[in-house]
Amino acid sequence: MQDFQPEAQVLANKTILVTGAGDGIGKEAALTFARYGATVILLGKTTAKLEAVYDAIMANGGPEPAIVPLDLNGATKKHYHDMANTIKAEFGKLDGVLHNAGMLGVLTPFEHIDLETWQKIMQVNLTSAMLMTQALLPVMALAPQASLVFTSSGVGRRGRAYWGPYSVSKFGTEGMMQLIADEYEHSTIRTNCINPGATRTKMRSAAYPGENQLSLKTPADLMPLYLYLMADASIGVNGQSLDAQPK
Ligand code: NDP
Repeated sequence: MQDFQPEAQVLANKTILVTGAGDGIGKEAALTFARYGATVILLGKTTAKLEAVYDAIMANGGPEPAIVPLDLNGATKKHYHDMANTIKAEFGKLDGVLHNAGMLGVLTPFEHIDLETWQKIMQVNLTSAMLMTQALLPVMALAPQASLVFTSSGVGRRGRAYWGPYSVSKFGTEGMMQLIADEYEHSTIRTNCINPGATRTKMRSAAYPGENQLSLKTPADLMPLYLYLMADASIGVNGQSLDAQPK
């Protein structure tokens, strides 16, 4: 899994949606999926970042991606249903979804968590993934085999002081993954979670400002597991929470 060595065009003819595709791990995943042949739908908040990823994919000779600028904090059920209808009309099916977008908020003692921050983090990290998945499942069912991947965290498996709503949202993510995996166990849709582990991105440096960034794995180092879960090699893997960095 973490040492998966894919063939050159292992994702050819697949259409894969990546959220938070403009930066960090999501950007690397989008570039990597395209390099292995996938048509990537780039969803994120900052259009200029998505356009830069689009340009990089085109410059590498990859399949032309699609761009979906969307702020997960304000997006409604209608946005997700419209997006699902467009994907169905354009591509006929959806082979993969990587729920990767996320926000950390500010680490703070539990007693100081304010409701507004709590609700925003739940909306961006958890509720949006629920609404988007509800809308996309029927389009994923049109693929011969489809892979639904959520992004968790170490603090989504064991709570840690001061990680507040971010940690709780990741526990929720793990739970949502498990129940979808169970409901769709006998279907063509498999559902799993990735815990990236400490990775050199803006989110990590916000959480650990004093850390030597060069000591961390890069998003590129994590890609074997991301490719494995999107490739047909992982058919039958369902309901798992997997570490992108082996212990
Ligand atoms: P980054 O902060 O580098 O990237 C986060 C991405 O999510 C950005 O593309 C950002 O878009 C997007 N995003 C944030 N808020 C919204 C929103 N409201 N609407 C749409 N898109 C949004 O984070 P990482 O790459 O580090 O994290 C990726 C995932 O991995 C997250 O789910 C994170 O929780 C998880 N993770 C990361 C770890 C790490 O060490 N880096 C460890 C464990 C888990 P924009 O740039 O436009 O704001």
